[in-house]
Amino acid sequence: MTDPNDDMKASIDYIVIGAGTAGSVLAARLSEDPHTSVLLVEAGSAEKLPAMAVPFRWPELMATTANWGDSTSVQSFSGTSVPAPRGRAVGGSSSTNGLTFVRGHRASYDAWVDQGAKGWGFDDLLPYFQRSETTEGRDPDVRGTGGPLTVGPTAQPSPVVVFALDAAADLGYETARDISSGVETGFGLADSNIKDGQRQSASDAYLDEETLARPNLRMVTDATVQRILVTDGVAVGVEYLLDGETTRVDAACEIILTAGAIGSAHLLLASGIGPAHHLREVGIDVILDLPGVGQNLHDHPMSTVLYEATAPLPHEPHNPMGQAVGLIETVHAEAGPNLQILVIAAPMRAATLPGPENGYAVAFSAITPFSRGRVRLASASMAVGPLIDPNYLGDERDVAVMEAGLEIAKQIGESAAMSEWRGEEVQPGPTVQDKSSVRDYLGRSLLVYFHYAGTCRVGTDEMAVVDLDLRVRGIDALRVADASIMPSPVSANTNATVYAIAERAADLIRL
Ligand SMILES: Cc1cc2nc3c(=O)[nH]c(=O)nc-3n(C[C@H](O)[C@H](O)[C@H](O)COP(=O)(O)OP(=O)(O)OC[C@H]3O[C@@H](n4cnc5c(N)ncnc54)[C@H](O)[C@@H]3O)c2cc1C
Repeated sequence: MTDPNDDMKASIDYIVIGAGTAGSVLAARLSEDPHTSVLLVEAGSAEKLPAMAVPFRWPELMATTANWGDSTSVQSFSGTSVPAPRGRAVGGSSSTNGLTFVRGHRASYDAWVDQGAKGWGFDDLLPYFQRSETTEGRDPDVRGTGGPLTVGPTAQPSPVVVFALDAAADLGYETARDISSGVETGFGLADSNIKDGQRQSASDAYLDEETLARPNLRMVTDATVQRILVTDGVAVGVEYLLDGETTRVDAACEIILTAGAIGSAHLLLASGIGPAHHLREVGIDVILDLPGVGQNLHDHPMSTVLYEATAPLPHEPHNPMGQAVGLIETVHAEAGPNLQILVIAAPMRAATLPGPENGYAVAFSAITPFSRGRVRLASASMAVGPLIDPNYLGDERDVAVMEAGLEIAKQIGESAAMSEWRGEEVQPGPTVQDKSSVRDYLGRSLLVYFHYAGTCRVGTDEMAVVDLDLRVRGIDALRVADASIMPSPVSANTNATVYAIAERAADLIRL
């Protein structure tokens, strides 16, 4: 078959692997220079599925071709395997996610600097957060006013969300003016990536028709990179599989890995870059013994208190599900707020738990968890998915934060402010009161956020995978610039942070 990039192959400067949140940003920013040629390689399709556009329909996307379809290994805390969806489409996970667009509290980025990631603190990232977004009516010193993403709070939030915010205020929590900003704590309406009632993915925002028409930018889709090719310590090219044929493409300048925290670790390992003993175990030639690859995997555990509503809740498919966020400190807080409350205008719960059709949920998450897991290879073949073990609630401190979260979520749910809409508390229900039944419920109700990060972390120590400029330590001309590089969890849903990481990476590469 004809390769759509034949005309460019002879002169590609940068190959960007993965057209997700970070890859879309990098391909767009690097190709702004007409003298630079960029090839963007994406495993998923360019086709937009109808459910992608409609904010409320994101859970449906997990059962489509736009999901890689992995599950975690059995988690020691819950005794169950948990679905591990990640986007496989142009736009990546930003084409399938829940659309909440919030920065973590500044303390969770400053914690990265404390771990050796100089240059990656909140103030360092602030111009890049701003560059990515356009918001209105906010403090322009903190928020962006001219970026590709259109973000803002839900214009007409669900009544249960409005009353939940009243409930939080009645309970004495601060009301934030802009909880998505990274500089406030308390409760407020969260921003989301919705433009004219439709999802705005990274590709919608950054890879519009005009950008894709640039003669120096090519995107090849349905093409899964199998290997990064390294010669004498320099990354020189990639091999991708498209319609059963393997194609090799070389890069004159650099290869930039933006395949997400699972995909980037998977591809480095499959290319022989990772912990040598593990690579040998699966029969891969070791190109570089880099022990941190695939380690330090983190995600946010989540669970809900679920209520039946007393009357049919207005259903607005163009609104996000999670509309309000609380960001507060509770037990074991080390780097600022460590508990997120998310008010969800839908009866969200673990798939195995019964619940009402018409209801709502107050979710809670240990948003700076201590638990760390890892990504490993199940096979030397890229056709076999990786072993994903986020180790949810593996650290007892995270369990304690979740216990505190359950209590606060219930206080909000049981408040006078919610009484008009509150029907039965369906989950966890009245029988879950003592410590052991709460612990049991945290396992049964484990939902998780799909905010995988950390598997190629930035830093200067032996377990860091990339240096402070995101170069893979020990290999020239290869960088990682996606959610993988986060040293520790940010106290928020991850997408906004990935945009800022990628924007900063573009500047570092263009230096
Ligand atoms: C179901 C779901 C709901 C979420 N909800 C939210 C939310 O509401 N708010 C929020 O802030 N965050 C949310 N997230 C997380 C957020 O979307 C991610 O953190 C962010 O998109 C990660 O960006 P990334 O660039 O690191 O990876 P991705 O956006 O996942 O991009 C990686 C891309 O690389 C491609 N790829 C992988 N391997 C290869 C290969 N070998 N060859 C070629 N291409 C490859 C993938 O197909 C994908 O397109 C959610 C995630 C999921 C999955």
